[in-house]
Amino acid sequence: MKFFTLVLFILFGYVAEAQRTLLHCGTLIDGLSDRAMKEMTIVVEGNRIIGVEKGFSAPGKDDKVIDLTRHSVMPGLMDMHVHLEGETSPDSYLKRFQQDPADIAYDAAVHAKTTLMAGFTTVRDLGGTGVNTALRDAVNAGKVPGPRIFSAGKSIATTGGHADPTNGYRSDLVGDPGPKEGVINGPYDARKAVRQRYKDGSNVIKITSTGGVLSLAKDGSGPQFQMDELEAIIETAREYGMTTAAHAHGDEGMRRAVEAGITSIEHGTFMSTATMDLMKEKGTYYVPTISAGMFVAEKAKIPGYYPPIIVPKALEVGPQISNTFAQAYKRGVKIAFGTDAAVFPHGENGKEFGYMVDAGMPPMETIKSATIEAAKLLEMEEQLGTIESGKLADIVATMDNPLENISTMENVVFVMKDGVVYKD
Ligand SMILES: [Zn+2]
Repeated sequence: MKFFTLVLFILFGYVAEAQRTLLHCGTLIDGLSDRAMKEMTIVVEGNRIIGVEKGFSAPGKDDKVIDLTRHSVMPGLMDMHVHLEGETSPDSYLKRFQQDPADIAYDAAVHAKTTLMAGFTTVRDLGGTGVNTALRDAVNAGKVPGPRIFSAGKSIATTGGHADPTNGYRSDLVGDPGPKEGVINGPYDARKAVRQRYKDGSNVIKITSTGGVLSLAKDGSGPQFQMDELEAIIETAREYGMTTAAHAHGDEGMRRAVEAGITSIEHGTFMSTATMDLMKEKGTYYVPTISAGMFVAEKAKIPGYYPPIIVPKALEVGPQISNTFAQAYKRGVKIAFGTDAAVFPHGENGKEFGYMVDAGMPPMETIKSATIEAAKLLEMEEQLGTIESGKLADIVATMDNPLENISTMENVVFVMKDGVVYKD
């Protein structure tokens, strides 16, 4: 029996080695260089890139060639802020009372596929019910197509805060959620909430350090955690090897999270220059989500799209994010690409590139923010984020050169993840 297993191993090992895929790339943006390269070949074996060669290398007998000679090829795109479980619609607040986890799971599987087909081979899911974590496992097991997911599970809020799932609903229907459900008050609750997420299999801890636009609550930007709570969350997360992300619109809640050592600030709407400088000093990433701001400001003008308590917040916060991003970029804050997809339809993540360019970031840097910078934020830069020998084979392509036409990022035509072609 043992001998037979060995024979199989050698046989399969031999087959895997022989089968290589050569991607002939007209233009290659590798995530490392500041310039695009012409006429290059990427060699993929199994789920890894094993070589990047000049010119269009000739295939061996068993090699497969993918012709991308008229395309621009780049590392798989990475969106550091999505919510795969849901999607914007005027009845999304009612859905919370109608959908069982199984219903959510089917929706989430559809959103995952849409996201992957848009060229996003890796995402950070920053908050859902826990279905997001199960979805990650299903994708990794090859059961459903989707991006590589780094899941926060259920995000952590304080009572009445953004991400308290019971805000605005009849009290006898919703109860009083605690740390297990991601609602904490005080450092002991904070530790339990993080440990619970570790137990649930989360990769990252998401907190809502200020009010938020789309929660059924009046305040959209005031601080909602105190220092001892933030410190307890971030220290505990570190002990379990998890990074942390803070949703934040107002400056005070943001400053506290940065001070306490948060890994990234999400949205960052009313970020002061002092907080920008603190982020530079601490190495904190900024994930802007301009797309979400643009979308909510637009939809808030349609009567009835959002409940009335949300409208003034959406109109105020929405347009500001792009200004803040412009300023933070100029000041040298580290930027990682993120959209908050779910607030707008999944699959439209690529619009963010155009918004970033409009706000003053050069196209090449926007692509790096969605590849190597995102990989660094995930602490996955050894595996992801560039087209280099040894990295996982996550590769996408557009028809046009994004350095000349950034809107081509909204139309990714080729997607390979983990060496498997999903779109050609
Ligand atoms: Zn979000």
